[in-house]
Amino acid sequence: MQEERLRIVPLGGLGEVGKNMTLIEWGEKALIIDMGLSFPEEKTPGVDYIIPNIAYLKKRKRNVLGVVLTHGHYDHIGAIPYIMDKIGNPPLYGSPLTLGITQKRQEEFPSQPKLQLNEMKDGSRAELGPFSVEFFHQNHNIPDNYGLLIETPVGNIVHTSDFKFDSTPTNAPPTNFGKLKEIGSKGVLMLMSDSTGAEAEGHSLSEKVIAENLEKIFKKAKGRIITSTFASLINRVQDVIDLSEKYGRKVVIEGYGMKTNLEIAQNLKIIKSKKGTIIPSEKAFDYNDHQITILSTGAQGEDNAALMKILSGQHRFFSLKKGDTVILSSSVIPGNERAVQSLKDDIMRQGADIFHSQMMDIHAKGHAQEDELREMIKIMKPKFLLPVHGQYSMMANHAKIASEEGIPKKNIALTDNGHIISITKDELHIGKKPVPTNPVMIDGSGIGDVGGVVLHDRMELAESGIFVVIVAIDKKTRKIKNSPDIISRGFIYLRESQLLLTEVRKKVIEIISKAGKKKKDAKEIKPEIKTKIESFLFSKTGRRPIVLPVVIEV
Ligand SMILES: [Zn+2]
Repeated sequence: MQEERLRIVPLGGLGEVGKNMTLIEWGEKALIIDMGLSFPEEKTPGVDYIIPNIAYLKKRKRNVLGVVLTHGHYDHIGAIPYIMDKIGNPPLYGSPLTLGITQKRQEEFPSQPKLQLNEMKDGSRAELGPFSVEFFHQNHNIPDNYGLLIETPVGNIVHTSDFKFDSTPTNAPPTNFGKLKEIGSKGVLMLMSDSTGAEAEGHSLSEKVIAENLEKIFKKAKGRIITSTFASLINRVQDVIDLSEKYGRKVVIEGYGMKTNLEIAQNLKIIKSKKGTIIPSEKAFDYNDHQITILSTGAQGEDNAALMKILSGQHRFFSLKKGDTVILSSSVIPGNERAVQSLKDDIMRQGADIFHSQMMDIHAKGHAQEDELREMIKIMKPKFLLPVHGQYSMMANHAKIASEEGIPKKNIALTDNGHIISITKDELHIGKKPVPTNPVMIDGSGIGDVGGVVLHDRMELAESGIFVVIVAIDKKTRKIKNSPDIISRGFIYLRESQLLLTEVRKKVIEIISKAGKKKKDAKEIKPEIKTKIESFLFSKTGRRPIVLPVVIEV
């Protein structure tokens, strides 16, 4: 009899930093770990978010026993409102903060079903059919972050969540090595471990060191301090509040994401502040500049974030001025480098001072680096390792570290999204034919209706513009009724290109008169106009706008 295998299906998060989602299957029963989104790239213009593809999962929706969440970052929970109703709205398990952020976001989608939330504490267990999941505390740059010990019929799987070892964290207990060793001593069949920091040597910075670096800036600042970070970096938000209190500053909160996250974290007593520290924006003018800290969103140079509005003078209350100190306390997401650079230029031009994470380590990278990854492997002593959460190069480095720590190569699953990893207690196998993982794009209220063709058109439009030719032809005589109308955007400035337009009109009239003699109809004429005008425009301008012929028969 063939031994039953446990199947691990990574639907997102492998070979990328973002949209983490993994399926664990035993027979027909399944468990999901995280359900995250990723942010658009240069190749996906106009797209708001990207979520994992659940085509594989849709077929087996009745079998999803639950979704276990590691922590409240959007790359781990952000896809929930787009996916839950499509898989039968199974129960969710996570920490109070994780569920708080999840719930708040769900409220922005009133048509979505009510989530079944199950609050987990450090040490809590969720019994889900063949799986028993224990949640354990792990340090990261957001509190209430849990690793997972998943007991399965073939053995124990440990999922580290995003983690770092920190003996002096902000707002959370230090790493509990005793607990980790206890988990390791039970025997770990497979370790699924965070790879994001695998290319960095040594040990990640403690949250305490980051707070100390921030304090150096607070000490020196003479005017207002404007700090910008991710709303989800709850620990940074706490640091800024603590330091403001210490240096006699009131704190103003700007940006929707920042306000809501702060509210959730305050209600859960995760973020602490003295009464009167946080003041409404309009009250800021009752104080001197050196008594004010503005905590805002927008450290990535996002167009509509509070920081950008302050810089461009479009903010309701504040505009940047000489003497301000701006702190960008978050690392730059790949792809946002240019936006952040022009943000920095803007700030300096306006005579303010700026500090960002490259000048000083004011951003906790939040992820275990080489030494910590080694230590995690030593503690867990897993038979199999599945490097997760990272670009391929990060996962490959993680695999290298693991083989140096004595895990045989055949026991390391270095693979990509969609490849089914099946394990028994002795054997690991990686499927060759992947399940669908092509990303699903969210644009406005549309889920997945923006595909390759639409994106291709958007890129073409952005690069060369559009050129529309409108003609009316007589149904009977097949002769042209008027001089062709031309509309163009992003190609050339029409008013200054009259000569070219005259030539195009001549060409179109020629095409139609030839076609008319052969009794061609609008359907046949359209592609002819398209190819001929495209090559004509290219010969004259060296550009390739999208040519859209509109032929009306009257
Ligand atoms: Zn995270």
